[in-house]
Amino acid sequence: MSKPQFNAALLNFLQRAPTPFHAVALMRQRLLAAGFVELDEGEAWRIVPRGRYFVTRNQSSLVAFRSGQRALGEEGLRMVGAHTDSPCLKLKPNAVNETVGYVKFGVEVYGGVLLNPWFDRDLSLAGRITLRDKRGALRSVLVDFERALAIIPSLAIHLDREANDSRSINKQTMLPPVLGLAGAKPFDLEALLQGELKKQDASLARADILDFELCFYGTQPPAMVGVAQEFIAAARLDNLLSCFTGLEALIDSKANTAQLMIASDHEEVGSTSVAGARGNFLKSVLERWAGNDEVYARAIARSLLVSTDNAHGIHPNFSDKHDNRHGPLLNRGPVVKVNSNQSYATNSESAALFRHAAELAKVELQSFVIRTDMGCGSTIGPLTAAALGVRTVDVGVPTFAMHSIRELAGADDAHALYRALLAFYGLKSLEVASWS
Ligand SMILES: [Zn+2]
Repeated sequence: MSKPQFNAALLNFLQRAPTPFHAVALMRQRLLAAGFVELDEGEAWRIVPRGRYFVTRNQSSLVAFRSGQRALGEEGLRMVGAHTDSPCLKLKPNAVNETVGYVKFGVEVYGGVLLNPWFDRDLSLAGRITLRDKRGALRSVLVDFERALAIIPSLAIHLDREANDSRSINKQTMLPPVLGLAGAKPFDLEALLQGELKKQDASLARADILDFELCFYGTQPPAMVGVAQEFIAAARLDNLLSCFTGLEALIDSKANTAQLMIASDHEEVGSTSVAGARGNFLKSVLERWAGNDEVYARAIARSLLVSTDNAHGIHPNFSDKHDNRHGPLLNRGPVVKVNSNQSYATNSESAALFRHAAELAKVELQSFVIRTDMGCGSTIGPLTAAALGVRTVDVGVPTFAMHSIRELAGADDAHALYRALLAFYGLKSLEVASWS
């Protein structure tokens, strides 16, 4: 796929995936359209050579794979990992609060949200509603209001003269988005949700809503920014950019090798969940594909996971936050992330395999290591490496404003990562000789 086509499709994906559920729904549609066969964890599987498959869990995590030509135990897998979730504000169960004549919704902070940028943004609501339909059957339905429903207004500077010097945010009291003026009757959240469901599907008009997982998101569409349009500005670049890139590379791969893409939920809150990378989703898929312990163990020993998650680019206004030799620039290529304390899973062999693939694709790479006097973030890389015993390298495109409601990436880097991952999926061998 050419870079303009790729970026246009990436922007569209970011816009239409306000939640992990929507991201997985779009990835599922994309895979079905490309001829991948959907598997169900509750059914028997039959994996044949040169097949293309995918399976979802909790509608928020997805594993897609190509079974390749050779026996799994002889070849090993080229795996790419990413995460579907992003920090956001989630609706509380009893969300409605009315204060001094206004309706507000109580919210939880999901993950490490950079909170200041959430003020004065036009916010919409999206997520999953689980309901009982007219026939009495339980089902989950995705909703996206799309229109601006709410806003978190800042306090005027006249009422807080210290705002520019020492503003801190109380998450309980200062964050609830304002939806409008209170009426004579209490605000009916259920009626709001039912109205949206009915718009989507008339048969859901009188469904009983049993529960929901909804989050606020900014309605400003993704955009190309910069004098030469050299940046991509959007919400959720961390880490939908990698989900999109890994999946498109898997779909476009022409190689007959065994390849897999996993996109997991709940990375931003530590990954411990039914659909998170500390759960058993990937292991369970691989065990069923392998068929027995011996093949599974041999396959894992021969495999490599490329854990793709964004890196911090060096910021021109805060350049002292980076080591002077390890400040990745936007549009200078994907970054190999190293941390000797194992916050990243990269080692010299896993990095060498990825560098080898990138060279084949003529993609320049950069290196990142955190300043020695600062703490390091982490990814799904180390925990997947530890859980499966699989060699892993942590990579990602450099970005600014990670965990803001609007992040910034380079317009060249996602496509460069796509080309590097295509080359990686096509690597004939993942062997690095040792003891010789
Ligand atoms: Zn991330």
